[in-house]
This record gives sequence, C-alpha cells and structure tokens, in this order.
Amino acid sequence: MNEIIIASNNKHKIEEIKAILKDRFDHIYSLSDKGIDVEIEEDGDTFYENALKKAREVSRLSGSPALADDSGLIVEHLGGPGVYSARFAGYPCDHEKNNDLLLRKLKGIENRKARFVCCVVVYYPNGKIVKAKGETLGEITLERRGSGGFGYDPIFYSYDLKKTFGEATPQEKNSVSHRKRALEQLLSLIV
Ligand code: IMP
Repeated sequence: MNEIIIASNNKHKIEEIKAILKDRFDHIYSLSDKGIDVEIEEDGDTFYENALKKAREVSRLSGSPALADDSGLIVEHLGGPGVYSARFAGYPCDHEKNNDLLLRKLKGIENRKARFVCCVVVYYPNGKIVKAKGETLGEITLERRGSGGFGYDPIFYSYDLKKTFGEATPQEKNSVSHRKRALEQLLSLIV
C-alpha cells in the first residue's frame, strides 16, 4: 500500500501538500488521522535540518514513510527571518505580529525583494532520505492585501501571480508556491 504521513499540524499546509500529492499516493495521512500527537521543536539552523528532524521522528513513531517540510521567508534586505519566520516577533507564533514587525522593519526601505523557500524531506522506515527544495519570488508590500492563505501571505506580492498570496485563490497559490515547487522536485525523485 502506497501511503505517506505528513509530519505537520498546520492545516493550511496539510491541504496544500495533499492537493499536490493526491495523484501519487493511495493514502495521505495527517498526524491527527494517525492519532499521533507530537510537537517537534524546530531548532535546526537550516530548513533541511528541521524538515529531516520532523520526518525522521514521525516515521519512527508511525513505522510509515513520513514527509515533512520546513519553510520560511527570506527578505533580501534582512537576510531573514529564514528558519525564524514563525517566531519572528517572538513566541508564541503570531502571524499578525510577524507581519506588523516585518512591515515596520522595512519602513522606508526600497529593496523589498523576498522569497519563500521550502525544503521537503521524505524519511522511510529503512532510513532512506529523499530531499528537495523550492522557491518562489516576490516582494513585501507596503500594507496587507487580501485575507487568504496564512502567515506572510497578505504582504507577499508574488511576481508569478502579480498579486499577493493573500489575494490569490488556494489553486493560484498552489500553482506557484515554494511548497509546490519543492514537492514537484521531490515527486520526480521518488518515482
Ligand atoms: P514552517 O516552520 O515551515 O511551518 O513555516 C515557518 C513560517 O514561515 C510560517 O509560520 C510562516 O510564518 C512562514 N511561511 C512558510 N510558508 C508560508 C507560506 O506559504 N505563506 C506564508 N507564510 C509562510
């Protein structure tokens, strides 16, 4: 049976990932589908380290292949927040505060170029690891636009879509997102 567990508790992400993987797996489970209640600390220095840690832990707990992603925003002017994207404005993760802080830090700054980066890892019970990376380019707007998506979506103007991810439909975002690109590369590696 061709199954995979998504090692994430983020509902938006799980939906995005399921939509992209649905044709390739017979069963795609979330942690809650499998009754796995675990919060894995993302304390690595790189997206890859964090994704690997989550995928390995969930594969060990479930005995199934597990897919984890770690992603974040890199703003050229700041060189980050990168792996600190979720907790940019401190704990606990608060997307509104993160967006406010980023808009404040970029006040008066001309270079607003940014990119979302996503690293995906599949960890198999036999220890095999497959990894892939995707990026999507854009810039940080002067104010929020749209209420779709999550995280930095309302202030990320996508060069591909010519609107913010917050203004995009889930389908539009999924067609160009960093996660989509990472997952597509991953799919080509796990034929
Ligand atoms: P995670 O650790 O991969 O769950 O993501 C870290 C943080 O990066 C999230 O909490 C968001 O702040 C940001 N992020 C990652 N992907 C996206 C996205 O697709 N849209 C908006 N923000 C994102």
